[in-house]
Amino acid sequence: MTIQWFPGHMTRARRQIEAKLKLIDIVIELLDARVPLSSRNPMVDEILSGKPRLIVLNKADLADPRATDQWISFFSKEGHACIAVDSSTGTRVADIPQRVKELLDHKIVRMKQKGMNPRALRALIVGIPNVGKSTLINRLAGRSIALTGDRPGVTKGQQWIKVGNEMELLDTPGILWPKFEDQLVGYRLAMTGAIREEILNIEDIAFFAVRVLADRYWDTLKERFGLETPPKDVEDSEEIVKVMEDIGRKRGCLLGGGRVDLEKVSGIILRELRAGKLGRITLDEPQQ
Ligand code: GDP
Repeated sequence: MTIQWFPGHMTRARRQIEAKLKLIDIVIELLDARVPLSSRNPMVDEILSGKPRLIVLNKADLADPRATDQWISFFSKEGHACIAVDSSTGTRVADIPQRVKELLDHKIVRMKQKGMNPRALRALIVGIPNVGKSTLINRLAGRSIALTGDRPGVTKGQQWIKVGNEMELLDTPGILWPKFEDQLVGYRLAMTGAIREEILNIEDIAFFAVRVLADRYWDTLKERFGLETPPKDVEDSEEIVKVMEDIGRKRGCLLGGGRVDLEKVSGIILRELRAGKLGRITLDEPQQ
């Protein structure tokens, strides 16, 4: 799925989320653990202002576990509760209702003080396309749910999905647009498969991927493709292209005259990266 995020679409997406915020107690902000910063909507703080929030780093199975720990403490320092899950298998997904309950404990206490029977806590999942919102909703629900597509102006008729006895989820997640201003963000999202590569040049995406891998995950790259010499300087573009050519030769991506088919090798690198065959990799580094 690719959404063209023109200004009108962004305004509409924002309004849809704002309408849903009125119905819920807490937002679950879903980020991709491989790119927690690049997969974050630039206006998320503004859009969700005032609502309690739990940040969930999804696809943690594909991310570097050390970097994930660093990201969790980064967000905690920012004052956000944060956990990492794998929605495709359900690993740690059960922690979500538990954390939601902890975060809204004061609300439950208040309801009890007023003599009210505490009702189920209501949550909305928000995130950019492809981050795993539908997969997580199905996991939390414990069954496969046909999600109703978001139509403009339609907020009526939404269903609450029960998650155990104490939590409910809105069946339609809030779809946020990604950051576009920063070109590197675009490449990082493309590396994870979050945006379609037709928008960007596949060789450029692979080039950026190889640069990150050569810089931070050289041993993985070396092992996977049987490479020998690391680039002397990852900032030197020619050195990175040399690594791509080495991979191409190892994988038989050759054109006439012994030239390497860079487009073909780029496809291979990106496919294997996205499938997790290059190991668990995080592209965004937590900032100090
Ligand atoms: P949505 O657009 O945010 O609703 O994203 P989807 O739920 O459709 O997920 C996008 C893709 O990511 C699908 O191919 C999912 O199978 C995959 N996916 C979702 N969560 C995870 C996860 O935790 N780990 C892995 N490896 N893949 C996931």
